[in-house]
Amino acid sequence: MSTIVIEGCAIATVDDERREYKSGHLVIEDTRLVAVGPGAADPDHTNKAICVIDASGKLATPGLVNCHHHLYQWATRGYAQEATLFEWLVALYPVWQHIDDAVVAAAARAGLASLARSGCTTTTDHHYIFPKHAGDLLQVEIDAARAIGVRFHPCRGAMDLGRSQGGLPPDDVVEDRDAILAACAEAIDRHHDPEPGARVRIALAPTSPFSVTPELMRETADLARARGVRLHTHLAETDDEERFCLERFGVRPLQYMDDLGWLGEDVWLAHCVHLNADECARMGATGTGVAHCPTSNGRLGAGIAPVPALLRAGAPVGLGVDGAASNECGELVDEIRAALVLGRAAAGPQALTARDALELATRHGARCLGREDELGHLSVGALADVALWDLDEPGYAGIADPVFALAFGPTRPVDTLLVGGEVVVEDGELRTADPLTLAAELRRESARMAEAAPR
Ligand code: ZN
Repeated sequence: MSTIVIEGCAIATVDDERREYKSGHLVIEDTRLVAVGPGAADPDHTNKAICVIDASGKLATPGLVNCHHHLYQWATRGYAQEATLFEWLVALYPVWQHIDDAVVAAAARAGLASLARSGCTTTTDHHYIFPKHAGDLLQVEIDAARAIGVRFHPCRGAMDLGRSQGGLPPDDVVEDRDAILAACAEAIDRHHDPEPGARVRIALAPTSPFSVTPELMRETADLARARGVRLHTHLAETDDEERFCLERFGVRPLQYMDDLGWLGEDVWLAHCVHLNADECARMGATGTGVAHCPTSNGRLGAGIAPVPALLRAGAPVGLGVDGAASNECGELVDEIRAALVLGRAAAGPQALTARDALELATRHGARCLGREDELGHLSVGALADVALWDLDEPGYAGIADPVFALAFGPTRPVDTLLVGGEVVVEDGELRTADPLTLAAELRRESARMAEAAPR
């Protein structure tokens, strides 16, 4: 059994009692936390530790959880810079049509590295473009997550409503419904790990109301529930989507999903910007989760999600960076700040506290993914997914409250990141891949994409 002791740091546990310590310790045995508390660790632990980390001047938080992403989009950043969501999608579908396994591998590795360096220990991905002869894109992403060292919940996305049938995407990028359902079942068979401590879990994720038929939505929900996996999609992101649903289905987006049996504790929905008070209450009553993506919503001018109302209603609200083509960054810690400043710009200075925002990025995210029993908090028995933030540097110096400093201070890479007790980032540097190599691969594959479909 290998023991790691971390001591001397401030700790924001985000545990059931939201305990915080000005100076405390964490003890890890193998993959899990066995002690968390104030002061120094028990000498019995320290004496047998293979590693004792002096973390003075640092803040320990649970590893952050990213609830929404499209990793492949790292290879198509900087396009359609002033577009609405629908304009942006129409500009990008013809580019994405050319992705293949080399593009997805380079984009996924670069995106996952950015997440790790920004404190993320668990991420989802929502992949929904599967060109014929592009290779095994899901496998490529899972291999990238293993290599970088983060916990991974890939969502098998899908589109079956092409333009000729009244959908938004061109017919060339949609798939046949039976083929999609077969691919979803195969993804679960091959990759889903239902066991505690899992590194890979699959979710099913038809892409959006304007790119998917109601039949596929319904049949995917049946399949997910029969197999015990979770459901994810985009919802209520823009006014255009609301108009589309009213015109095509005669109801607003949330009612549409409710009618399809798509609300519940096994579902989390990206965006939820355009929900009214009754709809927020319905999200809470059904326990449906939200992946709040404030930077992407800002980049596309989509609006600001009613996070305080969703939280009051009891809905879990995790954070997401969204695809890197609508958020040219992709650093998860930035979304804590974005959630705070946008939330307060919309609803005043008491809309969200720094601690609320940290909670969104940790426990609420874990709840969206069905992992709240073992992720999203620093508690005895939880997985040892830990972020250490160096607050000693000038950017934070003098802010007495470490959680407020992390949330509102300048963005810096995480100092140390442990995933299941394994070191992924140390001294602010990724230990699992060389950033210069990742950047060269990403530049090469982005150039290939630009050549395949010139702007
Ligand atoms: Zn998205």
